Amino acid sequence: EGAINRIAAGEVVERPASAVKELVENALDAGARRVTIDIADGGKTLIRVTDDGCGIAGHDLALALSRHATSKIDGSDLLNIHTFGFRGEALPSLGAVGRLSISSRVPGADAYQIKVEGGAMGTVRPVALNAGTVVTLGDLFYATPARLKFMRTDRAEAQAITDIIKRLAMAEPFVRFELRDISNDSPRTVFVAEAQSGDMFDALHGRLATVLGREFADNALAIDAERDGLHLTGYAALPTYSRGSAVAQYLFVNGRPVRDKLLVGALRGAYFDFLSRDRHPAAALFLDCDPTLVDVNVHPAKSEVRFRDPALARGLIVSALRHALAGAGH
Ligand code: ADP
Ligand code: MG
Repeated sequence: EGAINRIAAGEVVERPASAVKELVENALDAGARRVTIDIADGGKTLIRVTDDGCGIAGHDLALALSRHATSKIDGSDLLNIHTFGFRGEALPSLGAVGRLSISSRVPGADAYQIKVEGGAMGTVRPVALNAGTVVTLGDLFYATPARLKFMRTDRAEAQAITDIIKRLAMAEPFVRFELRDISNDSPRTVFVAEAQSGDMFDALHGRLATVLGREFADNALAIDAERDGLHLTGYAALPTYSRGSAVAQYLFVNGRPVRDKLLVGALRGAYFDFLSRDRHPAAALFLDCDPTLVDVNVHPAKSEVRFRDPALARGLIVSALRHALAGAGH
């Protein structure tokens, strides 16, 4: 029915942070273990994402830039998506709004580069590169002054990029992330998350300490609950470690970062008796289920979801968190 229409809709790139999100998701889809993000001027003049993933073969570079070309799904299995990307829209969109350059190398082959400007593709040329992929996006929206006007200060855009990187880092604790600001001559590391090891709970706990602080991680309650095919795992803060801002809420559905009203509301509901109005619970929670039980394509930016049974999702979160809080003496 509507699945095709829903995923075809909408522009992918609204601001530097949305470009960064698409590029880092591509690196993760490529199986990268290390992702480095360099930005200048809040990402407005430069975004560069370097990964050690599988790379793109020279003869596939032009294809990767064509609209609706994706190597990740064959069209028959839209409900069964295990990668971040599947629409084949990000690279062509980025090539239309900035100066895009992709250099890539697959193991055992030579490295190649292609550039796109104003949507016009250059030729594929040999380039020097060790392994993986480097995507550079320069002068975002240079050809569309109307869009440029809507960008916020460098600082605000850089903050939005940091926020996206932290969300993706929380989703992928086994991957190393580094965000650098190279606006000036002396590059500055903004955020580093070393690759974690152990099982998923160990890795997530280590990543929590990096993103939200050691004190938070050491006082967080482990959550592990299941109901009717929905599985909830992660960590939730004791009420005393909850914050005055909503920034410390990291919610994922089938591995994708989401900012869903239903889930945020459920989290609030679970803490209702313990928190005053202006304090928000801090948590990193992963809801996993069969892909047929949830539609992650409601919004093109993929941050909203639609559950087949919303009451089930809400009920699971509220009861699992209340149970954990009660066990901790609350
Ligand atoms: P999608 O992610 O939806 O498939 P994109 O436009 O983001 O669409 O990317 C198009 C294709 O380019 C991908 O399907 C993938 O084959 C290839 N690609 C993009 N970025 C990378 C990367 N960093 N490493 C390996 N392949 C990549
Ligand atoms: Mg993609």
